[in-house]
Amino acid sequence: MTDFKRDGSHLAYCPPVEKWDDWVELDPDSWPRRVEKHYQLVPTICFNCESACGLLAYVDKQSGEIAKFEGNPVHPSSRGRLCPKGPATINQIHDPDRILYPMKRNGPRGAGKWTRTSWDEVLETFGTRMRQAIQEGRGEEIMYHVGRPGHDFIMERTLQAWGIDGHNSHTNVCSSSARLGYLLWHYADRPSPDHANARFILLLSAHLESGHYFNPHAQRIIDGKMSGAKLAVMDPRLSNTASMADYWMPTYPGTEAAVLLAIAKIILDENPYDAKFVKTWTNWEDLQVDGFQAKGQSFEATIEALKKHYAHFTPQFAEKESGVKADVIVKIAREIAKAGSRFASHLWRGSASGNLGGWQPARALMLLHVLTGSVGTEGGHNLNAWNKFVPKPFKVPPQQKRWNELLYPPEWPLSTHEMSFLLPHFLKEGRGRIETYFTRVFNPVWTYPDGFSWIEMLRDEQKLGLHAALTPTWSETAWFADYVLPMGFSSERHDLMSQESYAGKWIGFRQPVNRVLRERAGEKFEYTYQANPGEVWEEDEFWINLSWAIDPDGSMGIRQYFESPYHPGQKLTVDEYYGWIFENSVPGLPETAKKEGLTSLQYMRKYGAYEVTRDVYQQNEKQLSEAELAEARIESNGVITKQGKPVGVMIDDRPVVGYNTPSRKLELFSKTMADWKWPEFTLPEYYRSHIHRSAQAASLGEGRADFDPKYTPKVEWPEHARGEVFTLLPIFRLPNLIHTRSGNAKYLYEISHKNPLWMNSADAQNIGNIRTGDLMKVHTEIGYFVLHAWVTEGLAPGVVACSHHLGRWRVNKDEQIERMSSAWVDLKEIGKGQWKMRQLETVSPYESPDPETKRVWWSDAGVHQDITFPVHPDPVSGMHCWHQIVRVERAGSDDRYGDIFVDTNLSFAVYQRWKALARPAPGPGGLRRPLWMPRVVRPVESAYYMKK
Ligand code: SF4
Repeated sequence: MTDFKRDGSHLAYCPPVEKWDDWVELDPDSWPRRVEKHYQLVPTICFNCESACGLLAYVDKQSGEIAKFEGNPVHPSSRGRLCPKGPATINQIHDPDRILYPMKRNGPRGAGKWTRTSWDEVLETFGTRMRQAIQEGRGEEIMYHVGRPGHDFIMERTLQAWGIDGHNSHTNVCSSSARLGYLLWHYADRPSPDHANARFILLLSAHLESGHYFNPHAQRIIDGKMSGAKLAVMDPRLSNTASMADYWMPTYPGTEAAVLLAIAKIILDENPYDAKFVKTWTNWEDLQVDGFQAKGQSFEATIEALKKHYAHFTPQFAEKESGVKADVIVKIAREIAKAGSRFASHLWRGSASGNLGGWQPARALMLLHVLTGSVGTEGGHNLNAWNKFVPKPFKVPPQQKRWNELLYPPEWPLSTHEMSFLLPHFLKEGRGRIETYFTRVFNPVWTYPDGFSWIEMLRDEQKLGLHAALTPTWSETAWFADYVLPMGFSSERHDLMSQESYAGKWIGFRQPVNRVLRERAGEKFEYTYQANPGEVWEEDEFWINLSWAIDPDGSMGIRQYFESPYHPGQKLTVDEYYGWIFENSVPGLPETAKKEGLTSLQYMRKYGAYEVTRDVYQQNEKQLSEAELAEARIESNGVITKQGKPVGVMIDDRPVVGYNTPSRKLELFSKTMADWKWPEFTLPEYYRSHIHRSAQAASLGEGRADFDPKYTPKVEWPEHARGEVFTLLPIFRLPNLIHTRSGNAKYLYEISHKNPLWMNSADAQNIGNIRTGDLMKVHTEIGYFVLHAWVTEGLAPGVVACSHHLGRWRVNKDEQIERMSSAWVDLKEIGKGQWKMRQLETVSPYESPDPETKRVWWSDAGVHQDITFPVHPDPVSGMHCWHQIVRVERAGSDDRYGDIFVDTNLSFAVYQRWKALARPAPGPGGLRRPLWMPRVVRPVESAYYMKK
């Protein structure tokens, strides 16, 4: 096991901190001569995924240029190691096609004509419009829509300072279903598995090679394995992760909950469950199931009722549904039971984000943790809320008073996040308009389903007043913006980050390397863009200045939050913002810094990260203090309340904090589900996904008794759709690419640049002797895409798969969107809502200031599949259900590689069919949403009630 040391000595090859000011390496360009190069090393944080690994920028002392990025050995989460996307930051900052200055369009939207403008003009234009909207009570027409956040809390603070309900995110195309599954149990919406100390690890993901907290988790999964833990992977695809596992369970997609509940049944039946934990820490006394009411009954009787309820989840039933052999399921159940409190697992995307009801696998997985007592334990499942540390800044604004129904519409009261992917449909339905729209490191035209509906929305100046794309790279979405505002990469910006990546709490500090170094040398900068390439800025300073532009004299009450805490009335600087946080909100940091004669800010600038604590297990057991108990009352069920709100629970006569649920216990029985019109789902359940074989049959007009239209909308094929019916898995990630932000990273694109259609060899034979490389046409409910086949044994029959990330395109030949990663396309609207795209030129070598673009050897840019997908909002979690039933045929003589067709009239119709599954608010008492459920930027309580 790797024993992390704060000085980085656990990694002998990493430069020790005391040598960071003058680190010497031999110059590779001078080889075979041994010429020394001197570097200054500056820590920062990778911005290429959510993991926030620590980077070290190697700055050539002679040229002042950053020469490379490697791992920061004193970062407690990444411990000096990186995935390939971290070092590829060097490509991003030196990208010859990058946006260096703020740009303003000077023709019709989407025409691709841009003029350089100044930051002052941008601030004046947006500040004036936003001021007017807020003063006229139209604050909800301002929307901030984030793709990759890469920071903590600063945006929530900014939006609340503006007094608006305007935060939109990408989460409902990413992880909402998994979040709901976890949330219903314990309020925290993410797992923080302690892989390193586990004895058995179950992944419903490709976590060793990609996915959430990929590099930090991969290290700890390997630590766990090296200490003897066994690894099981549930994935229809033989991922690299599955290939490293002791058990691979290739489930038919969407059937994972059936397998998990079969495991639960075995653990219950064979009796090795942790009865003490279940009795103490679940709300079993609330259970009502199949006519049984636990109230007044014994715990043993309740367990018997549970056993009865899950009786039909036999291993044989699970095998029939999933294809995983019954004896494997039994074996894994026994391994999990044996691991007991040291059972760790992870589910984030995969089955959760692919399937209707994808929140049930997360809920069923948590049931296994509850039965084994592996919640909050060493080697078990911990809560993100316990391991992530978000320090509070000075002067936090009050909560906003309004509720924006474009974000949280009444149809999906339990959606964990904003219904962002439905925005074009909401505007089409006339639910509102957007005056000022900020897309921030966000490319919905490309990464979302139904991208042509996004294009239609973005180019409509009636529905969308002014759109600024804040982005480090060109994107398909930026193309339709009014302003393109260049934001910095990992080494060009400030951000504070923390993630629940292991059993500990830490913070990491991203910083602009050039500015930091030049300020160390005595230069002074007012703004980061003055030290960055061109006029690339950072969001922190942009929002501070925009807030001053909205409220220049402070009369609107906004400016006060962006004034210095040290010099009243003066504009807040980033040093002051972060310096205050480090000095006042991070326990132990000021003392640690002082020991080295540093301020807290200087410490963070020197090391780039700080571990706050390792005391993270079993936080539910924390005793409430006298002060916390003042004026509290103990309810008859043991819940401790204050002003009617639960704050703790009595356990063995001790007042402890418990979990943040209404019962303060883990909610085996969810009253929330009963209250919000889903009484059939008060317990973890399995119900058939929209891609179940019964739905496939229904799409062909073949009736099956197990197809229930109450839960599953029927697929209506467009007239042109032909071919065999399959389930498409479109969301697996490639470990070396970054959604759409790696198009400028030649080291990464050189490794992967093609996304063929994975197909089992038996299926290939059945369709008609399909071979790898043959051209296939995949029909979705709203259109089609054409790509090459890849015939493989690494995928279950009946399923086809295509990876995310690839298929970038540009509508102009030589500008914008990097030519090494995109195809030049002919994009046409051939009828109202009917869109056709054809690749005119794929990738080839080209001239640029970077000589390596002449050495591009690959010719493929991949095929953009997401744009041909309709929206599938899960009626409960609100998550877009990515998997889908498709028809696959051999491409015809008129079809060409990369061809795409979509009819957005059909996509609107699919939206309507899925919307009809929802069970809208109001809930109890006229609520829009349960009061206990979180929101990213939470409004005041009165806003939770619908107006009569
Ligand atoms: S996992 Fe890779 S991309 Fe993500 S932060 Fe770490 S180094 Fe960067």
